[in-house]
Amino acid sequence: MAGIGNVLDSVVEMFSSESSEPRVQRAEVVSLADVHPGAKNGSVLRVQEALAKAVGLDYASAPGTFGPRTKAAYATWQHHLGYVGAAADGIPGLTSLKKLGAEYGFTVRAGAGGGGASAGDRVASPVPGHRINQPYGVPNARYQAGYHTGDDYGAPERTPVVAVRSGTIQWSNADGRQYGNWIGLRADNGRLYVYCHLSRRDVLSGQKVKAGQRIGRVGSTGNVTGPHLHFEDHPSGPFVYGHERKPAW
Ligand SMILES: [Zn+2]
Repeated sequence: MAGIGNVLDSVVEMFSSESSEPRVQRAEVVSLADVHPGAKNGSVLRVQEALAKAVGLDYASAPGTFGPRTKAAYATWQHHLGYVGAAADGIPGLTSLKKLGAEYGFTVRAGAGGGGASAGDRVASPVPGHRINQPYGVPNARYQAGYHTGDDYGAPERTPVVAVRSGTIQWSNADGRQYGNWIGLRADNGRLYVYCHLSRRDVLSGQKVKAGQRIGRVGSTGNVTGPHLHFEDHPSGPFVYGHERKPAW
Protein backbone atom coordinates (compact mmCIF):
# COMPACT_ATOMS: atom_id res chain seq x y z
CA MET A 1 0.00 0.00 0.00
CA ALA A 2 2.89 2.34 0.74
CA GLY A 3 3.93 1.88 -2.89
CA ILE A 4 0.63 3.29 -4.18
CA GLY A 5 1.04 6.35 -1.97
CA ASN A 6 4.48 6.95 -3.42
CA VAL A 7 3.20 6.61 -6.98
CA LEU A 8 0.39 9.09 -6.24
CA ASP A 9 2.90 11.48 -4.71
CA SER A 10 5.02 11.37 -7.87
CA VAL A 11 1.98 11.94 -10.07
CA VAL A 12 1.00 14.98 -8.00
CA GLU A 13 4.60 16.17 -8.07
CA MET A 14 4.73 15.76 -11.87
CA PHE A 15 1.60 17.86 -12.35
CA SER A 16 2.86 20.52 -9.97
CA SER A 17 6.23 20.87 -11.66
CA GLU A 18 4.67 20.98 -15.12
CA SER A 19 2.42 23.84 -14.09
CA SER A 20 3.62 27.31 -15.08
CA GLU A 21 1.97 28.79 -11.97
CA PRO A 22 4.38 29.58 -9.12
CA ARG A 23 4.05 27.08 -6.29
CA VAL A 24 2.54 28.32 -3.05
CA GLN A 25 4.64 28.01 0.10
CA ARG A 26 2.73 26.37 2.94
CA ALA A 27 2.04 28.72 5.88
CA GLU A 28 2.79 27.60 9.44
CA VAL A 29 0.35 30.06 11.02
CA VAL A 30 -2.93 30.42 9.14
CA SER A 31 -4.30 33.95 8.83
CA LEU A 32 -8.11 34.05 8.85
CA ALA A 33 -8.05 37.08 6.55
CA ASP A 34 -6.18 35.07 3.91
CA VAL A 35 -8.60 32.15 3.73
CA HIS A 36 -11.58 33.05 1.56
CA PRO A 37 -12.97 32.18 -1.90
CA GLY A 38 -10.68 33.45 -4.66
CA ALA A 39 -7.58 33.68 -2.47
CA LYS A 40 -4.28 32.00 -3.38
CA ASN A 41 -1.68 31.74 -0.63
CA GLY A 42 0.07 29.54 1.91
CA SER A 43 -2.72 29.78 4.47
CA VAL A 44 -5.17 28.31 1.96
CA LEU A 45 -2.72 25.47 1.23
CA ARG A 46 -2.41 24.66 4.94
CA VAL A 47 -6.22 24.59 5.27
CA GLN A 48 -6.52 22.37 2.18
CA GLU A 49 -4.09 19.86 3.72
CA ALA A 50 -6.30 19.72 6.81
CA LEU A 51 -9.50 19.44 4.76
CA ALA A 52 -7.95 16.56 2.79
CA LYS A 53 -7.61 14.66 6.07
CA ALA A 54 -10.88 15.87 7.58
CA VAL A 55 -13.30 15.48 4.67
CA GLY A 56 -11.28 14.00 1.79
CA LEU A 57 -10.67 17.18 -0.23
CA ASP A 58 -8.65 16.53 -3.39
CA TYR A 59 -6.81 19.79 -4.07
CA ALA A 60 -4.08 18.44 -6.38
CA SER A 61 -5.33 20.52 -9.32
CA ALA A 62 -5.05 23.84 -7.47
CA PRO A 63 -2.87 23.70 -4.37
CA GLY A 64 -3.12 27.00 -2.46
CA THR A 65 -6.13 28.27 -4.40
CA PHE A 66 -9.49 28.64 -2.61
CA GLY A 67 -11.81 27.49 -5.40
CA PRO A 68 -15.29 25.92 -5.45
CA ARG A 69 -13.97 22.50 -4.35
CA THR A 70 -12.24 23.94 -1.29
CA LYS A 71 -15.38 25.94 -0.48
CA ALA A 72 -17.54 22.81 -0.72
CA ALA A 73 -15.08 20.88 1.47
CA TYR A 74 -15.11 23.68 4.04
CA ALA A 75 -18.93 23.63 4.07
CA THR A 76 -18.73 19.88 4.78
CA TRP A 77 -16.42 20.67 7.69
CA GLN A 78 -18.91 23.27 8.99
CA HIS A 79 -21.72 20.67 8.75
CA HIS A 80 -19.48 18.27 10.65
CA LEU A 81 -19.27 20.90 13.44
CA GLY A 82 -23.06 21.13 13.54
CA TYR A 83 -23.50 24.34 11.53
CA VAL A 84 -26.69 24.40 9.47
CA GLY A 85 -28.18 26.48 6.66
CA ALA A 86 -26.43 29.74 5.84
CA ALA A 87 -23.91 29.19 8.66
CA ALA A 88 -22.44 26.29 6.63
CA ASP A 89 -21.64 28.46 3.61
CA GLY A 90 -18.09 27.22 3.05
CA ILE A 91 -16.58 30.59 4.04
CA PRO A 92 -14.22 30.14 6.99
CA GLY A 93 -14.98 31.94 10.22
CA LEU A 94 -12.68 32.13 13.21
CA THR A 95 -14.40 29.42 15.29
CA SER A 96 -14.62 26.74 12.62
CA LEU A 97 -11.09 27.48 11.38
CA LYS A 98 -9.62 27.24 14.89
CA LYS A 99 -11.35 23.89 15.40
CA LEU A 100 -9.90 22.62 12.12
CA GLY A 101 -6.47 23.80 13.22
CA ALA A 102 -6.80 22.22 16.66
CA GLU A 103 -7.55 18.87 15.08
CA TYR A 104 -5.05 19.01 12.21
CA GLY A 105 -2.12 20.88 13.69
CA PHE A 106 -2.09 24.55 12.75
CA THR A 107 -2.71 27.76 14.65
CA VAL A 108 -4.88 30.64 13.45
CA ARG A 109 -4.16 34.34 13.49
CA ALA A 110 -7.41 36.33 13.65
CA GLY A 111 -6.25 39.74 12.43
CA ALA A 112 -5.67 40.99 8.92
CA GLY A 113 -3.04 39.16 6.87
CA GLY A 114 0.12 40.69 5.45
CA GLY A 115 -0.21 44.17 4.01
CA GLY A 116 -3.14 46.56 4.18
CA ALA A 117 -6.82 45.89 3.75
CA SER A 118 -7.98 44.69 0.36
CA ALA A 119 -10.93 42.81 -1.08
CA GLY A 120 -11.57 39.73 1.01
CA ASP A 121 -9.92 41.01 4.19
CA ARG A 122 -11.82 40.69 7.42
CA VAL A 123 -11.27 41.72 11.02
CA ALA A 124 -11.64 39.66 14.20
CA SER A 125 -14.42 41.77 15.74
CA PRO A 126 -16.64 44.70 14.70
CA VAL A 127 -15.61 46.22 18.06
CA PRO A 128 -11.84 45.61 18.15
CA GLY A 129 -10.76 44.14 21.46
CA HIS A 130 -14.31 43.28 22.51
CA ARG A 131 -16.20 40.00 22.44
CA ILE A 132 -19.81 38.89 22.15
CA ASN A 133 -21.58 39.06 25.50
CA GLN A 134 -25.12 38.31 24.24
CA PRO A 135 -25.10 35.87 21.33
CA TYR A 136 -27.44 35.56 18.38
CA GLY A 137 -30.46 33.27 18.53
CA VAL A 138 -31.23 33.21 22.25
CA PRO A 139 -35.04 33.03 22.69
CA ASN A 140 -36.38 36.25 24.18
CA ALA A 141 -39.98 37.47 24.06
CA ARG A 142 -38.77 41.09 24.26
CA TYR A 143 -37.83 40.89 20.58
CA GLN A 144 -40.41 40.97 17.81
CA ALA A 145 -38.78 37.92 16.20
CA GLY A 146 -38.97 35.98 19.49
CA TYR A 147 -35.21 35.59 19.66
CA HIS A 148 -32.09 37.76 19.65
CA THR A 149 -31.48 38.76 16.01
CA GLY A 150 -27.82 39.72 16.34
CA ASP A 151 -24.65 39.39 18.38
CA ASP A 152 -24.14 42.01 21.11
CA TYR A 153 -20.70 43.39 21.87
CA GLY A 154 -20.71 45.10 25.25
CA ALA A 155 -18.31 48.06 25.33
CA PRO A 156 -18.19 51.54 26.85
CA GLU A 157 -19.84 54.48 25.08
CA ARG A 158 -17.72 55.81 22.20
CA THR A 159 -15.65 52.65 21.71
CA PRO A 160 -14.78 52.52 17.97
CA VAL A 161 -16.66 50.11 15.71
CA VAL A 162 -15.09 49.07 12.40
CA ALA A 163 -16.08 47.62 9.03
CA VAL A 164 -15.74 43.83 9.35
CA ARG A 165 -14.99 43.64 5.63
CA SER A 166 -14.44 46.12 2.83
CA GLY A 167 -17.56 47.39 1.11
CA THR A 168 -19.96 50.27 0.60
CA ILE A 169 -22.13 52.03 3.19
CA GLN A 170 -25.75 51.25 2.21
CA TRP A 171 -27.19 53.65 4.79
CA SER A 172 -26.05 55.70 7.78
CA ASN A 173 -28.80 57.51 9.66
CA ALA A 174 -30.71 57.98 12.92
CA ASP A 175 -33.92 56.34 11.63
CA GLY A 176 -33.44 52.86 13.10
CA ARG A 177 -36.22 53.33 15.69
CA GLN A 178 -35.50 50.54 18.23
CA TYR A 179 -32.04 50.28 16.58
CA GLY A 180 -31.35 53.98 17.09
CA ASN A 181 -28.43 55.40 15.14
CA TRP A 182 -27.55 52.69 12.65
CA ILE A 183 -25.36 51.84 9.67
CA GLY A 184 -25.77 49.20 6.96
CA LEU A 185 -22.56 47.94 5.33
CA ARG A 186 -22.85 46.14 1.98
CA ALA A 187 -19.70 44.02 2.16
CA ASP A 188 -17.52 42.47 -0.55
CA ASN A 189 -18.84 38.98 0.28
CA GLY A 190 -22.37 39.98 -0.73
CA ARG A 191 -23.72 40.28 2.83
CA LEU A 192 -25.34 43.27 4.53
CA TYR A 193 -23.95 43.95 8.02
CA VAL A 194 -26.00 46.15 10.34
CA TYR A 195 -24.47 48.21 13.18
CA CYS A 196 -27.01 49.44 15.76
CA HIS A 197 -27.38 51.76 18.80
CA LEU A 198 -24.37 53.88 17.75
CA SER A 199 -23.48 57.08 19.62
CA ARG A 200 -21.80 58.43 16.54
CA ARG A 201 -21.58 57.66 12.80
CA ASP A 202 -18.41 58.52 10.85
CA VAL A 203 -19.54 57.52 7.35
CA LEU A 204 -22.11 58.59 4.76
CA SER A 205 -24.41 56.52 2.54
CA GLY A 206 -22.57 55.45 -0.61
CA GLN A 207 -19.12 55.80 0.96
CA LYS A 208 -16.57 53.03 0.27
CA VAL A 209 -14.80 51.62 3.34
CA LYS A 210 -11.98 49.17 3.94
CA ALA A 211 -11.95 46.25 6.37
CA GLY A 212 -10.90 47.56 9.77
CA GLN A 213 -11.78 51.19 9.01
CA ARG A 214 -13.64 52.97 11.84
CA ILE A 215 -17.23 53.73 10.80
CA GLY A 216 -18.73 54.85 14.12
CA ARG A 217 -18.78 54.45 17.89
CA VAL A 218 -20.64 52.29 20.38
CA GLY A 219 -23.64 53.94 21.99
CA SER A 220 -27.02 53.40 23.58
CA THR A 221 -29.42 55.01 21.09
CA GLY A 222 -32.74 53.26 20.43
CA ASN A 223 -34.15 50.54 22.66
CA VAL A 224 -31.31 49.44 24.96
CA THR A 225 -30.45 48.94 28.60
CA GLY A 226 -26.79 49.95 28.26
CA PRO A 227 -24.11 50.78 25.69
CA HIS A 228 -23.31 47.98 23.26
CA LEU A 229 -23.12 47.22 19.55
CA HIS A 230 -26.00 45.09 18.29
CA PHE A 231 -24.62 43.53 15.10
CA GLU A 232 -26.71 41.74 12.44
CA ASP A 233 -25.87 39.79 9.27
CA HIS A 234 -28.41 39.90 6.42
CA PRO A 235 -28.62 38.85 2.78
CA SER A 236 -27.91 41.62 0.25
CA GLY A 237 -30.76 43.97 -0.67
CA PRO A 238 -32.98 46.16 1.45
CA PHE A 239 -33.03 45.51 5.20
CA VAL A 240 -35.81 43.07 6.15
CA TYR A 241 -36.31 42.46 9.85
CA GLY A 242 -35.97 38.77 10.79
CA HIS A 243 -34.07 37.73 7.62
CA GLU A 244 -30.71 37.60 9.35
CA ARG A 245 -28.39 34.73 10.26
CA LYS A 246 -25.79 34.20 12.98
CA PRO A 247 -23.20 36.88 12.09
CA ALA A 248 -20.22 35.54 10.13
CA TRP A 249 -17.84 37.39 7.81
ZN1 LIG B 1 -28.67 42.87 20.50
